[in-house]
Amino acid sequence: MSNNDVYDELGVPTVVNASGTKTRIGGSLIRKEALQAMNQAAESFVRLSDLQAAASDRIADATGAEAGYVTNGAASALLLGTAACIAGSDPGVMSQLPDTKDIPSEVVMPRTHRTGYDHAIRGSGATISDIGSNDRRIGTGSSDVEPWEYANAIGEETVAVAHIYKDYATPNLAKVCEIAHDHDVPVIVDAAAELPPIENLSWFTEQGADLVAFSGGKAVRGPQSTGFLAGRRDLIESVAFQHLDMHAAPEIWDPPERLVDTNKIDGVPEQGIGRPLKVGKEELVGLLTALDLFIEEDHEATRTKWRRRADSIAAALGEVDVLSTSIDDSKKSVTPTVIVDVDESLAPVTTAELLLALKQEKPRVFVGADDLADQRFTVNPMCLSAKEVDYVVDRIRANVRGDSAAVTDGGPDVDEQNG
Ligand SMILES: *Cc1c(COP(=O)(O)O)cnc(C)c1O
Repeated sequence: MSNNDVYDELGVPTVVNASGTKTRIGGSLIRKEALQAMNQAAESFVRLSDLQAAASDRIADATGAEAGYVTNGAASALLLGTAACIAGSDPGVMSQLPDTKDIPSEVVMPRTHRTGYDHAIRGSGATISDIGSNDRRIGTGSSDVEPWEYANAIGEETVAVAHIYKDYATPNLAKVCEIAHDHDVPVIVDAAAELPPIENLSWFTEQGADLVAFSGGKAVRGPQSTGFLAGRRDLIESVAFQHLDMHAAPEIWDPPERLVDTNKIDGVPEQGIGRPLKVGKEELVGLLTALDLFIEEDHEATRTKWRRRADSIAAALGEVDVLSTSIDDSKKSVTPTVIVDVDESLAPVTTAELLLALKQEKPRVFVGADDLADQRFTVNPMCLSAKEVDYVVDRIRANVRGDSAAVTDGGPDVDEQNG
């Protein structure tokens, strides 16, 4: 039985997560070691700028970028990174943001890269200038965006080019960086969910990206509220100026030189646009600990374990006559994922009814629902322990018969950490 007194006391049912690292159900489970490190971090005061300087060195080592910074999620990394591209080392602009009246603040971005997350980019005060078309989707044979469209769009008002990484995006990131750099404009990459593979820690920087935003609360399995930026030293410096609470009399202002060069800025920055995006010392230490462990992890073995679980889930669900299963194990997918097709002409329930019923289980069961319109759902083994796999299979089998009462013992032991 899955017990969690903290949630029980609040009357909040727990969730068995068969959908991967989804923020709305808590992302991933933080690594035990990261949690222990957070407990220790909670026992002393420390100057946050010193901690960010140490984090910068660690992130630089891990990514090959010049510098790094721990943020409040990848979304906040995008906001802070954009603010850095707008303000540079100008304290006047820093204090004006998010008001960008009379300040260059345009971010060039292909239409096909737009997502709900680019609200974070706009949160800095930037406006997004869309380029390209959706023609590929309507089958004209053209691509999403042509190299010349980038060059054409970058002008006096442009402060950055944004790129939401997907392996099918053309032109590729290296080409985009080349065009942007020809125009002296930095490239910000949203790579929030692009780990693993581990090589991606440095790949975006190698392609020429100036700032890369990663999530710390997904497969890295750091604190759910964390993320990090890897990138150019001057831009990270601007992030620090706009994020840290630095306000002090100039005579006694001495932030770590490794992080910021006080000679570059005319005065002490006040609380900036990043102030609502505070990162605690505990979260910061937790993220760095998790990142270390993520780097050391045997990713081949982890993937093999996930594949085994996916295989057993696919086999067990495939036995149900109204379900057919296959596995998406393409190189670029973070996890081998089970695709389950529901034959609604024969099943006593629709796919939507099945998924709703699974959410009503105790504990709740969340599967992937992105392809609901195709009478399809997915089971992602990434956040499931072995016992939870059995529970999920059992609940799907019972509910697809419209017979949710056919229960085992009402839930698995959640005794195994699994990211
Ligand atoms: C998850 C995600 C984000 C947000 O990451 P957080 O760490 O939750 O802030 C941004 N962009 C993309 C593409 C994502 O998948």
